[in-house]
Amino acid sequence: MVLIKCAFCKGRGKDPFGIMSHLSTCYACKGKGTLWVAKPTRACPYCQGTGISPIGARNYCLACRGRGVVSIPESTETCPYCGGTGREPSGLYCIECKGKGVVVKK
Ligand SMILES: [Zn+2]
Ligand SMILES: [Zn+2]
Ligand SMILES: [Zn+2]
Repeated sequence: MVLIKCAFCKGRGKDPFGIMSHLSTCYACKGKGTLWVAKPTRACPYCQGTGISPIGARNYCLACRGRGVVSIPESTETCPYCGGTGREPSGLYCIECKGKGVVVKK
């Protein structure tokens, strides 16, 4: 496990959109500014590392949960379903690879 900076709030621990108030805590990292992620990791293709959901942009990314990176299996190949983008044509995150853009190599 590695400790990474919360991409959603950029490590500030505050809600980046100030939905309640500008002082409200980030709900992705619960105000800590950091998050744990299991290795190996790669940048989240679904949110392109921002930690912010590409749809309904005030929420954290469902694929990485605000981390901006996702943990992936040791042996992977590009997801044949989404072609590695982590998203479906509808814009929702790819169910097959869970937004990671890669699947376990068969
Ligand atoms: Zn945060
Ligand atoms: Zn993401
Ligand atoms: Zn996919």
